[in-house]
Amino acid sequence: MSEGANRVNVLDLAPAEAEQRLRDFASARGVGAYRGSQVLRHLWAAPAPGFQVMSDLPLAFRAELERAFAMPRLELADEQRSSDGTRKFLFRLHDGQTIETVAIPDGDRVTLCISSQAGCALQCSFCATGLMGFYRNLLPSEIAGQVRELALLPEPVRPTNIVFMGMGEPMMNWKAVDVVLTILNDPKGCGIGARHITVSTVGVLPGIEALAKRPEQFRLAISVHAPTDELRRMLMPVNIKFPLEQVIDAAATFSRRVTFEYVMLGGVNDQPAHVTELARLAKRCGAFVNLIPLHPGGAGSYTPTSPDGIRRFAAGLAKHGVEVAVRKSRGTDIAAACGQLRVERLRRRPPRPADQHGEVDVA
Ligand code: SAH
Repeated sequence: MSEGANRVNVLDLAPAEAEQRLRDFASARGVGAYRGSQVLRHLWAAPAPGFQVMSDLPLAFRAELERAFAMPRLELADEQRSSDGTRKFLFRLHDGQTIETVAIPDGDRVTLCISSQAGCALQCSFCATGLMGFYRNLLPSEIAGQVRELALLPEPVRPTNIVFMGMGEPMMNWKAVDVVLTILNDPKGCGIGARHITVSTVGVLPGIEALAKRPEQFRLAISVHAPTDELRRMLMPVNIKFPLEQVIDAAATFSRRVTFEYVMLGGVNDQPAHVTELARLAKRCGAFVNLIPLHPGGAGSYTPTSPDGIRRFAAGLAKHGVEVAVRKSRGTDIAAACGQLRVERLRRRPPRPADQHGEVDVA
């Protein structure tokens, strides 16, 4: 067991709970409860790399914190920069697992694409993460830690928007994601507005229901990618467990507007018939459709739909009265699509069967 393995990791706790514990601890040590709130500030709002360097706290108290609590770092193992400003970070976790985070600047905005699992069990046929198989769920500290680490860089990266579109399926790790949403949104956490935080899912129904129950305006994106069960089953094996119609029904009852993600696979899901079928689904739940150019270097041997083809597809949807946008492809020169950096470094291992890890635990 590693040193201090029984210390409480304060980065795994929602800010209110972390604050309570830290204040109680401070009171018990006779330094005043407010010292606990000072520590909390150094977790997310004004991050410090460790207790020792919290220079606004008494030295002896810092040493006591160190003995009772942990606030582990993620090790930055690699970084790549795209000519378009997109930056991709590879973090190594304590057990050697590696995860990716992508920062995408766009005008005044910086969108951070974060990972929720090491690997992924779902094996969508075009996705690089699916190819590597599932390793494990990330802890809240490892998911929100990606945001924290970027704020700790010598030139801090401060995101305005967060999307759960890195490695993994967030709804298959809901227990952790639930806490992370609080950390990201809480003014005493990262303080990012709920409407600037998007959870992207293949359509794990219990997860969608759990997100719907949250009172904050977190956004939901659904990876649709095919407008019929028949085609979707081929692209996304998870469609067997959570069929399209049920996913659309869940989207229709979601209290906020939902986004459909639709990756454009040449000759596969980009035909005129698909326009009509997709428009029907989008209208049924009032969804906004995001067409995504296929990122080269994913899995499978797909060819991207041509830019013209994508424009035609978008125009077709618009004609049906569906709101649609074409996502700008970013970071193509640094393999910035889901899972690609890690895959490059691991030199493709055989995937594990998805069904070993298919349990959804949202309690
Ligand atoms: N598991 C979640 C979140 C991670 S993937 C989900 O599937 O929604 C984030 C998005 O990237 C998904 O819409 C996924 O389908 C898409 N994606 C994966 N591989 C891609 C590729 N090669 N090109 C373009 N988009 C891709």
